Amino acid sequence: MARVAVVTGGTRGIGHAISVALKEAGYIVAANYAGNDEAAAKFKAETGIAVYKWNVASFAECQEGLARIEAELGPIDVVVNNAGITRDGVLHKMSLEQWTQVIDTDLNSLFNMTRPVIEGMRARGFGRIVNISSVNGQKGQMGQSNYSAAKAGLIGFTKAVAQENASKGITVNVVAPGYINTEMVAAVPEPVLQKIIGQIPVGRLGKAEEIARCVAFLASDDAGFITGATISANGGQYLA
Ligand code: NDP
Repeated sequence: MARVAVVTGGTRGIGHAISVALKEAGYIVAANYAGNDEAAAKFKAETGIAVYKWNVASFAECQEGLARIEAELGPIDVVVNNAGITRDGVLHKMSLEQWTQVIDTDLNSLFNMTRPVIEGMRARGFGRIVNISSVNGQKGQMGQSNYSAAKAGLIGFTKAVAQENASKGITVNVVAPGYINTEMVAAVPEPVLQKIIGQIPVGRLGKAEEIARCVAFLASDDAGFITGATISANGGQYLA
């Protein structure tokens, strides 16, 4: 039986590539998104992957959305916590709203998405959870205290939940991308981008497909001995 995989923020950017990679690897994929119906409809038409709209910052919406996926597609075997936002600003100018939005979307979403599925995974004796961090969570980035905190917190969550569930056939891991050529990075001003590329030893931005292949590997049976780990995919920019 094909395994069921849920990818948050699975309709655009890195998530889009992850959804497609998992489908190609034989999973039944459900791609969650927040509100960009146009992008989701285009993604669905192009890939044939089912889309589910809800806000991962809401526990109630995650419970409801995950229950709907289980009713329609079957028990969830794989969760990829990929949805993320930035609301950049130096701390001395950051609003509480900027802080809270990023912590709710990029960190609290991990509880919201994992808590409703973890008991089922434990009962069935199999599960794969892959959380998408960032090089800026590993090294810290000025102007991103909210994002760096969320993306570093996610690594601690991963290590704790990995230990709790290792004996139940469940692995929990992190992929920490460097700068990847997506809309999020396209929003970075050109001079800043050139400076960033200058700091990447490989000499280019990463590709979403390169992150997707890491995720697909961690989701596979072959990765059963890897848990609590962080795979850095950053072109050598930061060696954690
Ligand atoms: P994009 O902005 O291209 O796509 C974000 C996706 O997440 C969209 O599908 C969006 O839905 C969804 N999303 C955003 N907020 C929510 C929410 N509250 N609930 C549900 N879905 C939501 O992001 P990227 O592909 O660039 O980034 C993906 C992940 O990778 C993020 O966690 C990011 O922090 C991380 N990352 C990205 C890097 C990069 O260089 N791009 C580098 C390092 C890490 P909708 O389409 O409806 O808006």
